[in-house]
Amino acid sequence: MYPPEFGYYKPESLADALDFLKGGNVKPIAGGQSLIPMLKFRIIQPKFLLDLNPLKELSYVIPEENEIRIGALTRYSEMVKSGIVRRDLPLLHEASGKVGDLQVRNMGTIGGSLSNADPSADFPAVSLAYDAKIKLISTQGEREVNAKDFFKGPFTTELREDELLKEVEFPILKGYKHTYAKIVRRAGDFALVGMAVLAKVGETVEDIRIAYTGVSDKPYRSYELEKTLIGSKPNEDQLRKFSEDVIKEVNPPSDSRGSSDYKKKVMKNLTFNTLKEVLLHAS
Ligand SMILES: Cc1cc2nc3c(=O)[nH]c(=O)nc-3n(C[C@H](O)[C@H](O)[C@H](O)COP(=O)(O)OP(=O)(O)OC[C@H]3O[C@@H](n4cnc5c(N)ncnc54)[C@H](O)[C@@H]3O)c2cc1C
Repeated sequence: MYPPEFGYYKPESLADALDFLKGGNVKPIAGGQSLIPMLKFRIIQPKFLLDLNPLKELSYVIPEENEIRIGALTRYSEMVKSGIVRRDLPLLHEASGKVGDLQVRNMGTIGGSLSNADPSADFPAVSLAYDAKIKLISTQGEREVNAKDFFKGPFTTELREDELLKEVEFPILKGYKHTYAKIVRRAGDFALVGMAVLAKVGETVEDIRIAYTGVSDKPYRSYELEKTLIGSKPNEDQLRKFSEDVIKEVNPPSDSRGSSDYKKKVMKNLTFNTLKEVLLHAS
């Protein structure tokens, strides 16, 4: 299919891009891995595309004392290659290597993935698990939104039409175990169900964050149920109960990847097996 006609704008600076965005009916394009298919299917018909690719100042991984700042235009493949991401954000590193195929990872960006808010995408769940801070910018200034409040529904976020996602800030969580478990129907596909886990485990579970993709109209984190594991010395019975309880909290949409019931069964088994691996097996 051919996309509808659109104008193209190549900004000279971030300020120029934000100024152009103010005109309305403009869609920023980063890696184009979701935007181009949406144009071809005529799901969106913007008057202009605003190319973010010339804005090299939006592509970076910057370590601070307690957090890592990642620019919106940073590509999955750059996060896979980054020694800083591998050392300080191992969950994000693992998830980056599990997105799509090599071509998607070479083009797709963190800013594009979060702004797109596909209910089956990997990074939204990972950003929830980390309690990442998402920084937005417009000609009116900058604001910061917690990942928890950023995702509003399918393909819908807190972003206003005149704003760009500028940066994502992830805390460095020392001494945490991690895993990103992803069930796919075919290699390189979106998740049928994906699960991001970060856990600090000593004699008991000191902290745990569990976030899912593919099970709701937006990424889902089991805030209340997580608390039932904190302070406990988990065993198989407790983890089995957790996996039975967590599926009662969601109503996965049926789609081409599977029915709602099937996704719940996958979620239950994935939860039990993943938590067993993270919490009961020595690292
Ligand atoms: C074959 C295939 C397989 C895939 N598999 C997976 C997978 O397994 N897991 C997964 O998570 N994803 C997968 N994807 C989607 C992929 O991750 C996309 O790269 C991502 O969804 C969008 O990032 P992008 O940089 O390409 O953004 P684009 O496609 O350029 O843009 C996506 C949306 O975000 C907006 N946008 C982009 N950047 C910004 C910004 N900085 N500020 C504000 N708005 C912005 C655009 O206007 C658009 O609405 C797959 C895609 C393909 C084609």
